[in-house]
Amino acid sequence: MSQQPRITIIGSLNMDLTATSNKRPAAGETILGERFETFPGGKGANQAVAAARLGADVTMIGMVGKDPFGNELTQVLRREGVETEHIGSADTSSGVAVIQVVDGDNSITVIPGANFQLTPDYIETKRDVIQNSDIVLIQLEIPLETVAAAAKCCKEVNVPYILNPAPAQSLPEEIINQAAYITPNESEAMILFEDINEALKKFPDKLVITKGEEGVVYSGGHVAAFPVSAVDTTGAGDTFNAALGLKLASGSSLSEACSYANAAAALQIGSHGAQAGMPTDAEVIAFMR
Ligand code: ADP
Repeated sequence: MSQQPRITIIGSLNMDLTATSNKRPAAGETILGERFETFPGGKGANQAVAAARLGADVTMIGMVGKDPFGNELTQVLRREGVETEHIGSADTSSGVAVIQVVDGDNSITVIPGANFQLTPDYIETKRDVIQNSDIVLIQLEIPLETVAAAAKCCKEVNVPYILNPAPAQSLPEEIINQAAYITPNESEAMILFEDINEALKKFPDKLVITKGEEGVVYSGGHVAAFPVSAVDTTGAGDTFNAALGLKLASGSSLSEACSYANAAAALQIGSHGAQAGMPTDAEVIAFMR
């Protein structure tokens, strides 16, 4: 293993377009809003940024559109030191989330765009990249058939993958069975499994459920979160997954990895936005002392 774990992320890149106004326009109505902001996001890209900040050697496999957002999303990752050569471009729009904020309440329209053009065939062309990784992180903002292809490829080249099953949907059993770890939050776990306690028993040391301020549970135990006051929890799960992957790829035990990941997520939720507050390894270590 190289000194820094090699982490490959297979997932989404989105631009979040946020319009803040003091009322919601009715159908057919035009109103003047207060503010417009753009934030790079997508669970795949968020996990790539989090892992890179923590010091991993990160490669992103994903798809953007041939539009200015596609360029920007790729540049953001490159500036963080992520290898972006394996991000393809599709003849459609980049993934966007159009977010209307009124009095702190969000209405969101997600257009997956290029993320849904990430195909099983494209994954197959990246077999070497996957083979050269210490661990792979996969989420569910890309087509399920592509998730299945990525899982199959990892299995064939004998590289462990962490499946972060977000947003939740029911999954073919083999995607779960082949995963080294599966990391739903509590509500995702309820959608995936009829009986969470049974599932924890069925998947010992594989099923790791994040529970917000309560930390993490898996069959062998519970790892408490760090008591912090959350400013914005967007991206907590992404930070957690990246940190978990980094530590597991470095040979840490599951409980050590969860503790480090809880600390990374606790630091991240101290600022606004998903990517802005993602900590460095030095910051996590200092925080845990
Ligand atoms: P998601 O962001 O995917 O919904 P969670 O809410 O379970 O997932 O949060 C993921 C992790 O982030 C938690 O396991 C915990 O480590 C950390 N976290 C989230 N919310 C808090 C909080 N209020 N206080 C401390 N840690 C938190």
